[in-house]
Amino acid sequence: MPDIFFLQKALGADASLVAVGGCVRDRLLGRDGGDLDLATSLMPEAVIERAKASGLTVIPTGLRHGTVTIVLNGVNIEITTYRDDGAYLDGRRPSQVNLGVSLEEDLARRDITINAMALPLKFINSNGWRANIIDPFGGQKDLEIKLIRTVGDPLQRFEEDGLRPYRVCRFVSQLGFCIEPKTAGAISQKLEVTTRVAVERVFVELSKLLVGQNAPSGLKALATHGLLDKCIPELTPTIGCEQNTYHAHDVWEHTLKVVHGSPADPSMRWAALLHDIGKPAVKFTDASGKIKFHGHEVASEKMAKQILNRLKASNAIQAEVIALIRHHGIKPDNAWSDAACRRLLHRLAKDGLDWRRWASLQLADQLGKGLDTEHIPQAHAEMVKRMERITSKFPPLNIQALAIDGRALMKLANKPQGPWIGTLQKHLFEVVIDDPTLNTAENLQLLAVEWIEKMNRN
Ligand code: ATP
Ligand code: MG
Repeated sequence: MPDIFFLQKALGADASLVAVGGCVRDRLLGRDGGDLDLATSLMPEAVIERAKASGLTVIPTGLRHGTVTIVLNGVNIEITTYRDDGAYLDGRRPSQVNLGVSLEEDLARRDITINAMALPLKFINSNGWRANIIDPFGGQKDLEIKLIRTVGDPLQRFEEDGLRPYRVCRFVSQLGFCIEPKTAGAISQKLEVTTRVAVERVFVELSKLLVGQNAPSGLKALATHGLLDKCIPELTPTIGCEQNTYHAHDVWEHTLKVVHGSPADPSMRWAALLHDIGKPAVKFTDASGKIKFHGHEVASEKMAKQILNRLKASNAIQAEVIALIRHHGIKPDNAWSDAACRRLLHRLAKDGLDWRRWASLQLADQLGKGLDTEHIPQAHAEMVKRMERITSKFPPLNIQALAIDGRALMKLANKPQGPWIGTLQKHLFEVVIDDPTLNTAENLQLLAVEWIEKMNRN
């Protein structure tokens, strides 16, 4: 915790200074560690002047919105002047903000009651801090009864800003709370406004929702209130899409289980969400009445690419999610040879994928099928152990790791550069991946000479 008393002193005794929003909510929930957002009655110019006079470093981050960043003991702290939002004209952002309003007015512009509480900094370390919370909209009560409720009329609040319905579902996922019925009802009435929000902001909220502890509840809330159809309509056909005897659930329920069971980071969870999205499109029933999803990995990969692109996900996330989806259907078992495992490790590495992350999605996918789940963790642990043994001996090979390079091959063949080098390297690579002990310059020279002689004969 930075030295906030120094900060209060720097800003002056006449400045009201409060912690506000998420940090107060999290403190009441016993969760520390998020950003410490501060708000003050001082105008930004006065914040800058007084902080500078006390020798603090000041960054004028968002002066238009009344925000100043102060560096205190190496920590960046945002201080925003109490403000309310002027008229919302486009369902995205207020047309202007008004600075210099009261704290109550500042709290009234916030999205949900549990995010609309403040705690004066002077009480932050006192035993009685709870008694000093400023809570005009019943946020503490809602925290207790685990309720997400907008500040004020939900229809109006969602009309102002189309991101708020997404935030509501995000908090359902993060906190496991329910949505108050009027708030829930208003989401489906204001769906049109949500389509006007910048996709980048929607992506941030969806990513936070996905990594939440109760992601399935958050996703169900998106679906129930019509938001899913607006942001990822391609997922809707998975709801009720019945599967074959390998699955206890339809594609959507299975997806929710895989999301919940995979590691809580954005790429893993996006991959889990989209890994079977292509299934409804490729579903068919064969002559014997069996349901099949041939080629669903390719279909899912293609759709995921389009979706992540549309949502402007970063290149890094897109690349990993796509690779995870591409390889999600592979399930090595005891019948696989070490060489086959090495080939798989090579394919994963070629796509820039950490095999352990592939393995954790694999486990979540298996468990998410909901059948015969008792033996799955054990079998999976054995598979991981085997992969570990294989990689510890010989790391996933690639062509560059061959113990002979292109120049040496040209010398051996006494031939100029050409496509033949790539073909020869591929041949050597196949040999080496079957038996990595053969990856020595001597062995590869012999193999190369053999191959070159054959090439010259043909
Ligand atoms: P997190 O722990 O994810 O940072 P947070 O509650 O701090 O959660 P932020 O997005 O950082 O969420 O927003 C900070 C505060 O600003 C919120 O607690 C809320 O009071 C207010 N807020 C943020 N976005 C909106 C919005 N779209 N409409 C109204 N108030 C908002
Ligand atoms: Mg925050």
